[in-house]
Amino acid sequence: MSSKYSIGPVDLNEAVERITAGIDPIEGTEVTGLANATGRIAAEDVSALVSLPPFPSSAMDGYALRSEDIQGNPPYELKLVGQSLAGRPFDGSPGVGEAVRIFTGAAMPQGADTVVIQEDCTATGEGVRINTRPNAGDNVRCEGHDVGRGEIIVRRGQPLTPFSVGWLAASGHESIAVSARPRVAVFSTGDELQEPGSALGPGQIYESNRHMLRGLLQQLPVEVTDLGRVADDPDETIDALQQAATQADAMITTGGVSVGDADFVADAVESLGSLEVWRMNIKPGKPFAFGRVGSCLFFGLPGNPVSAAITYLMIARPALVRLCGAEAGEAPSALARLTDPISHKPGREEFQRGRMRVSGGETTVSVTGDQSSNRLATFDKANCLIRIPKQAGSLAPGATVEVLPLFGLI
Ligand code: AMP
Ligand code: MG
Repeated sequence: MSSKYSIGPVDLNEAVERITAGIDPIEGTEVTGLANATGRIAAEDVSALVSLPPFPSSAMDGYALRSEDIQGNPPYELKLVGQSLAGRPFDGSPGVGEAVRIFTGAAMPQGADTVVIQEDCTATGEGVRINTRPNAGDNVRCEGHDVGRGEIIVRRGQPLTPFSVGWLAASGHESIAVSARPRVAVFSTGDELQEPGSALGPGQIYESNRHMLRGLLQQLPVEVTDLGRVADDPDETIDALQQAATQADAMITTGGVSVGDADFVADAVESLGSLEVWRMNIKPGKPFAFGRVGSCLFFGLPGNPVSAAITYLMIARPALVRLCGAEAGEAPSALARLTDPISHKPGREEFQRGRMRVSGGETTVSVTGDQSSNRLATFDKANCLIRIPKQAGSLAPGATVEVLPLFGLI
């Protein structure tokens, strides 16, 4: 009996911990311009080159004045001595009893410390009437109000969002050092698979997993090599695994990893390298395998498209994120009230596809139809996964369940 039979089934948490703990982040960094930085992983701590804003500025359109000129009750009459626009500061400083017209983002004139919004003022020919009593410092953004020069704005290992890229730009960085992109090879197995666009022969279906996976992998900073479809044949499987192992840092396969007569992948991995996890205590996704061929990580996803999707999202993705130089962290989750019954036998942790919404002040979640693991249709209109703990029995409408928004998983 092959040793793979002694290493499963494994609970999800345990598998993810074991797999990620054994993965070293990719070595190597490169410098990328901001245009290509979103989605990459910062390879070093980055500090602000300038303070934000770099000078005290106005937060509103209005009038800049010296708070010491505000005495007694409103209104206050001030003389207008100039204007300060964004990028075109007032060249001078208001004296006693003087004000400067100012606009959002414009530099505060020397000496002025307060801005009164224009809605509270009346222009009077040569001057301005201030109709309310401001507090000193109103509507002024001090230098470094957002962040001070030298403060860390991006940390090593942080995935760069569009917001971090905006922040890098605002603080003067045109480029950033990021982790190299791991190479990920993908192939599917199955004699029944035909490429979309070709005619289907008897007993054939169109291949979907590889195409879905390529889309999912586009969300990670990896370089994908598509090795196509591999027949249900031991030698061809071994060839494909070897090819992937020489070309890539990680490989993802789908299908052929169960215990059927046409399932050759797990044995092939064991013959070339090692199998560390095989079979998961989850539904769908039981026939999942993780191992290594040489130094290449191997993720063997089940063939059923929904099982492939779930095992990718819940196991392979967090592991790949670590390979990319970041930590996946906890997936965002929430509690929701179930609107449909879910039948579940204690034993395996289960993930159903759901649609969550907020209505009447509470979050509810419905199940997206028949949850069979071949039905990609269950992802249609789904915006979350419903997590059913392994020890749970069947759930009735009204039960509280944990939901994982899909946007937090891809
Ligand atoms: P397997 O895990 O190879 O036993 O496959 C399980 C089921 O998933 C079978 O019904 C396969 O036809 C189907 N399947 C396997 N690979 C794919 C694929 N790449 N695209 C779509 N369906 C697949
Ligand atoms: Mg198969």
